[in-house]
Amino acid sequence: MAPKKRGNKSAKAIPPAMKQALANVRKRKESVVVFIRDDLLLSEDTGLVTPSLGDSVHGDAFPDLRALLEARLEDNATERARLEQVARASFPTALQAWRGTIALQLYDRFAAGGPGVANLPPNASVEQKLHWLSLATTLFMCTRALDGSCADCADDDDVDDDDNVPDYDKMMRYPYVLSHKCLRGSDSATDDTPRAWSPATLAPDSGRTPLVADLVRASGLDPASATYQDMDACDGRLTCKLCLEKNLLDADCASTWWDCMGHFDAAHSGVDINPVMPLPYELRYPVGGRVDWVRLNPTAEAKARELAPRRTKDFGLAWRCVSCPAPFKVFQHRSIAEGHGLMWHGLGREAVQHGEGFVTVDNYLNVDGPELVYIWQLRQAGLSQYFPATELDAFYFNKLVKMFGKIPTTFPSRPAEKCAWSKFNQPGKRG
Ligand SMILES: [Zn+2]
Ligand SMILES: [Zn+2]
Ligand SMILES: [Zn+2]
Repeated sequence: MAPKKRGNKSAKAIPPAMKQALANVRKRKESVVVFIRDDLLLSEDTGLVTPSLGDSVHGDAFPDLRALLEARLEDNATERARLEQVARASFPTALQAWRGTIALQLYDRFAAGGPGVANLPPNASVEQKLHWLSLATTLFMCTRALDGSCADCADDDDVDDDDNVPDYDKMMRYPYVLSHKCLRGSDSATDDTPRAWSPATLAPDSGRTPLVADLVRASGLDPASATYQDMDACDGRLTCKLCLEKNLLDADCASTWWDCMGHFDAAHSGVDINPVMPLPYELRYPVGGRVDWVRLNPTAEAKARELAPRRTKDFGLAWRCVSCPAPFKVFQHRSIAEGHGLMWHGLGREAVQHGEGFVTVDNYLNVDGPELVYIWQLRQAGLSQYFPATELDAFYFNKLVKMFGKIPTTFPSRPAEKCAWSKFNQPGKRG
């Protein structure tokens, strides 16, 4: 028999046996998708990247899942149960290895010429590569965001300061960037060759590297080695010197470095966020432009932290109920998880605390930063100096004078020729 051309009119020409075989393959794919989601991932951290059907089909990362896909088990429930058991046993190790492998793909693809890489030996260890991925200056962007075809990026634009939307800058960092929607493989059972995980649409966000490097330096750390976890731990409180000097009141914040990035995007990225009240020309910077950042002096910083503490480490975790599968039930606080365990699954508080019935998942993306602290709050708290450089404090006092129309009682003593007020009061200048 001559080979038939494949085409849409051939649907009727497919022999019933082959049709049945195709339907069986699709069913197997569907059941593997459900098995991964409802069974294997139940005991895993789903806050991080998870494999799709495409990742089980391609490559050698999940051989036991592929065995499940390839075995014809339509009439053999016992064999199916056995293969599922095998896959269940090997999955945790396979998942961990796969996560490591795709992370290194990011490094191999993007590290050349990237920040800090010059310091790495040619045969960098896995640890060194992962350290590079975690550098504060290692930022990624989705190229599909540029034409608006990225669902993850579009979500972020639609919602303004919604507490439930993770911070975009955090989302695009390793390891969270690995689970970005455009990178994820496909779960479509009708797809002949479902797509595996791929960083094809990702690019280094090198335009923002100088901004982050400035913030790292302003925090007293080295951009070539400081990770974003180091920056979080340092918890410096900074402000934008340009806005401070230009007298923009709403910029007078003791901000975390994450908020500083947000401030730069909103105020100095060259894009007018508010077309009704465009920014004065001198405050607009082209993308990649620089502003100076000043870190508060230690006393003012301690006060800012007291007014707006960083979230505790526990807030970086969430608890997921393993008895309520897809959609996974996640609780942001342990006490709520305990309540759920008791009410719905009869689990005692102690059991939950020992990890029974719940899996802890990485919740870093959903942890809000500290509240915003304004410089005037520090003043209210009794401080009169905010910055290490005396010039800046003079600037700030100048501004207070303009704001309140009177001389503050704690006006700093300075050499006469350097003080703005002494010039103002010079008899010769008053005509
Ligand atoms: Zn995307
Ligand atoms: Zn500014
Ligand atoms: Zn539950």
